[in-house]
Amino acid sequence: MPEPADEITINPFRRRPGAADRIDKHRLPAEGMSPAAARDVVRDETMLDGNARLNLATFVTTWMEDEAKELYADAFDKNMIDKDEYPQTAAIEQYCQEMIADLWHAPDPAAAPTTSTIGSSEACMLAGIALKRRWQHRREAQGADTSKPNLVMSAAVQVCWEKFCNYFEVEPRLVPISAEHPTLDGSQLNDYVDEHTIGVVGILGVTYTGAYEPIADLQQALDTIAQQRGLDIPIHVDAASGGMIAPFLQPELEWDFRLPRVASINTSGHKYGLVYPGLGWVVWRDRDALPESMIFRVSYLGGETPTLALNFSRPGAQVLLQFFLFLRLGRSGYETVQGESQQVAQHLAAEIGAMPAFELISDGSTIPVFAWRQVAGHTDKWDLYDLSDRLRMHGWQVPAYPMPDDLAEVTVQRIVVRNGLTMDLANELLAVIAAQVAYLDNLTAPLPKRTTSHAFTH
Ligand SMILES: *Cc1c(COP(=O)(O)O)cnc(C)c1O
Repeated sequence: MPEPADEITINPFRRRPGAADRIDKHRLPAEGMSPAAARDVVRDETMLDGNARLNLATFVTTWMEDEAKELYADAFDKNMIDKDEYPQTAAIEQYCQEMIADLWHAPDPAAAPTTSTIGSSEACMLAGIALKRRWQHRREAQGADTSKPNLVMSAAVQVCWEKFCNYFEVEPRLVPISAEHPTLDGSQLNDYVDEHTIGVVGILGVTYTGAYEPIADLQQALDTIAQQRGLDIPIHVDAASGGMIAPFLQPELEWDFRLPRVASINTSGHKYGLVYPGLGWVVWRDRDALPESMIFRVSYLGGETPTLALNFSRPGAQVLLQFFLFLRLGRSGYETVQGESQQVAQHLAAEIGAMPAFELISDGSTIPVFAWRQVAGHTDKWDLYDLSDRLRMHGWQVPAYPMPDDLAEVTVQRIVVRNGLTMDLANELLAVIAAQVAYLDNLTAPLPKRTTSHAFTH
C-alpha cells in the first residue's frame, strides 16, 4: 500500500499567483496562504475522521443545541485561569460547583472545596495527590515512614489511575476482577490494604462494562478493617460517567458524600454532564479532605487568585456551557435526557442479548452503557473483532476488546449510548447487526484471528 502523501495540494480555485501550490505536511511553510485556502486544507484533512454521532465507543459529548454553539462561539477567548479579567465566568464556575456538590450530598455544598478541570483525568490526579498528601501529613505527625504509598483499586480502572500512580510515584495495587468478582466489591480489600495505603478508588461506571462498583460495600469493608486493624482509609469515587447519571436515575443509591468514608468525587462534564470536550469536576467533602498546601495563590494576572489545578491557562467556555445546561435542563430535564439514553441502551441490550450469537455482560441499567460477549461454541468462523469491522464498514463504531488481566481471555463488545442516539437510529443499528451476523454465520471458512479492534475509547 502506498504511504500517505507527504504533501498537501492546494485546490486550484484557492491558489494565489506566485504562491506554492503544494505544501510539505511536516515543516512550517515558508509563506502563508489565504484564510479560505487554509480552512479548506484543514477541512479536507479531517474529512476522513468518523461521523461522531455514529461513534458508540466514546463517552464524550458529540451533540449540543444551537444555543450552546452560539454561547461557545461567544466565549472561545475566555481563559479560565484569568479570574480577574473574567470574574463572572469565575462566579459561574462557583455556581456550578455548588450545584454539583449539592447533587452529591456534600455536607455543606458552599464550603466543599471544588474545582473545574480539563476532564476527569486531571480531576483524578488532583484527588490522588490530596489522598497522598493527607496520608503523608498523618504519617509524618506519627514519625512514620512515608516512602511507600500505595493506592488500591480494581484492575478495571481507567488508565488515568495508572498514570496517576506512575507520575506521582504511588504503588498501584490492582485487585483482579473475575467471573466471581466482576467489580471491586470489598471482599478482598483486607488482603490489599496496609498502613501505606493512601486510599481506595471505587468506580461509578466501570469503563469496560458500565457496572457500578458497590461503594457502600467498600465503605463497610473499610469500616471493618478500621475496627480490626486500626487503619482509617478514605475512598475516592471515580464517577467520570456515573456522577451525572446516578443523581438522576438512581437517586436512592448511596454512593456519594452520604457515605462518610467518601473523601472526594470526580466527574467528566463532557460525558453525561452533556458538555462538549474539555470539562471535568472534582469535589472534596470538606476542608479537611483537601490539604491547604495544594492551593496556590498567584498574583500575576492582577488580583490574588487561589488556584488548584495541574494546568494554568485553559478554556473557560465549557464552564459556561455546563451552567447553560444546568439552567436549560434543571433536575427534571437531566432525568428525562439520561432516562431516554437509558431506555435506548436497555432496548439495544435486550435485542442484542436475544440474538443466539450473544450473551449480555451488562444491560444498561446503571449508566446507559452495556457489553456483550459471543456465546461459547456459537461459531469458529468469526469473533467480535470481525463484527466490529463489519459494523465499521456501515459507519458504526462499536469496539471489541479484551477484559482486563485475569479475564483477558474474554472478548467483549460495548455500546455507549449518548444523547443523540435516538430509538430510530438504534433500530437501524440493530438491523445492521442482525444482517452482519447473518453474513458472518454464512461464511464458508473461518476468518483469520486477531486480538485488536479499531477503537476502544475508555
Ligand atoms: C472517561 C473516564 C476517565 C477519564 O476521563 P476524561 O474526562 O476523559 O479525562 C476516568 N475514569 C473513568 C471511570 C472514565 O470513564
